[in-house]
Amino acid sequence: MKNLAPKLTHEQYEANFAELHPPFTPNSAVAEANRCLYCYDSPCMKACPTHIDISTFIKKIATGNIKGSAKTILKSNWVALTCAKACPVDVLCEGACVYNERGEEPIQIGRLQRYAIDWYFEHGMPPLFAPAPKNGKSVGVIGAGAAGLSCAAEAALLGFDVTIYDANEKPGGLNTWGIAPYKMMQEDAFKEVRLVQSFGVKIQSGVCAGKDIALGDLEKKHDAIFLGVGLGSASRLNIPGENLPGVVDALDFIGKVTTRNWHSVDVGKRVAVIGAGNTAIDAVTEARRLGAEQVMIIYRRSREEMPAYDFEYELAKSEGVQFQFLTAPSRIIGNAHVEALECIQMQLGEPDEEGRRRPIPVPHSEFRIPVDMIIKSVGQNIEQTFLAQIPNLKIEGGKVWVNPYTLQTSNPKYFAGGDCINGGKEVVNAAADGKRAAHGIHEFCFGK
Ligand SMILES: Cc1cc2nc3c(=O)[nH]c(=O)nc-3n(C[C@H](O)[C@H](O)[C@H](O)COP(=O)(O)OP(=O)(O)OC[C@H]3O[C@@H](n4cnc5c(N)ncnc54)[C@H](O)[C@@H]3O)c2cc1C
Repeated sequence: MKNLAPKLTHEQYEANFAELHPPFTPNSAVAEANRCLYCYDSPCMKACPTHIDISTFIKKIATGNIKGSAKTILKSNWVALTCAKACPVDVLCEGACVYNERGEEPIQIGRLQRYAIDWYFEHGMPPLFAPAPKNGKSVGVIGAGAAGLSCAAEAALLGFDVTIYDANEKPGGLNTWGIAPYKMMQEDAFKEVRLVQSFGVKIQSGVCAGKDIALGDLEKKHDAIFLGVGLGSASRLNIPGENLPGVVDALDFIGKVTTRNWHSVDVGKRVAVIGAGNTAIDAVTEARRLGAEQVMIIYRRSREEMPAYDFEYELAKSEGVQFQFLTAPSRIIGNAHVEALECIQMQLGEPDEEGRRRPIPVPHSEFRIPVDMIIKSVGQNIEQTFLAQIPNLKIEGGKVWVNPYTLQTSNPKYFAGGDCINGGKEVVNAAADGKRAAHGIHEFCFGK
């Protein structure tokens, strides 16, 4: 890459990627737990897609029963450490906390959850759950992300023999390869993988289903199959210059950053990220933390339509990210390397089918922004080629169709959950789906 941002010292990188929310000390955890009002109708619990009994786990922290607290959490969510660190708590549990209505700071539920789960892993995962006797049936899980791991753990506890197949060399899905390193470390994701393995779940990494192993073979081997395959290829910009060196996909860039081999990740001095979802915000703030001097988001709609959460937007702004709203890329310019991004000014027209106002180019408003690197983050699609191999699998609106109660797909042997059925939400949704699907599989194999 040309015009690389100078490499930082190891200490600078570590400082730049320091944890956003450091852990509680035992005293501060108890003090925070004691603020909880233990509401009888627990709006926080309702707001959590995995419905963790939040009041109960917090009460247990307050009374010094940390192991019991961890048990309460894990009973509902097998990737509770990831969720504690990476969940958008402002719009989920903490956003629902009654303290907000009183104009006071909500209970720091995420940090308290982390306190209990850190304790659990630091104490060598004391056994809390006993798998049911083997039920003689077998489940194949495709994908070792949050959805696949959750389904596998729950199915193993229900007595199934479970094997997970994952195309990546290391399991964990986006918990390992996507979530920003200032939120969580890859090691956190591996702890959760080990927890799932402790229930007897087998994991075959580096095995791409439909390629390294035929789906027909999996169907013969397993009584039911869970698809936790997430999303696949990144959407293209479809503008001239897209293949120039210096133009990269957000997930490729972010995947390198999650390894924490900071020196090996090249970043330009001036970086433009195209898109304004949460992944785009992660990419732009990560570029900044790696030493990029000028970083900006290019988004064709306005601030109001931006898909990223408010707190992610505020975080990015506080780190010096510039936002170019109502701006669409029209051409990438450069000879052997990207040198500039040509953009066109937009204005908002009538709402589209999703209800968002449609961006319309302003005639003759083209302008250029000099850049050294462009990171594309305009969404991902489901893996059509892989999914097309499954007979009678219904895809609706770009998502795998499922029965909302059992998460069974239109092919009765297959169940699905996580990003592939919701088009890309949060870890906690995938965790909830995996658990639900395991019970759907149980019902399928044994009746109600
Ligand atoms: C950059 C980024 C940052 C994010 N940050 C957050 C965050 O801070 N907080 C949050 O809550 N959510 C975040 N999310 C969303 C969250 O990561 C996802 O919603 C969640 O991880 C989805 O889990 P999943 O199990 O459905 O899919 P994934 O985690 O994507 O896992 C799918 C797995 O399936 C495997 N696979 C796919 N096809 C095959 C095949 N044919 N054979 C074998 N294996 C296969 C893949 O290798 C992968 O490991 C982020 C997403 C991105 C992209």
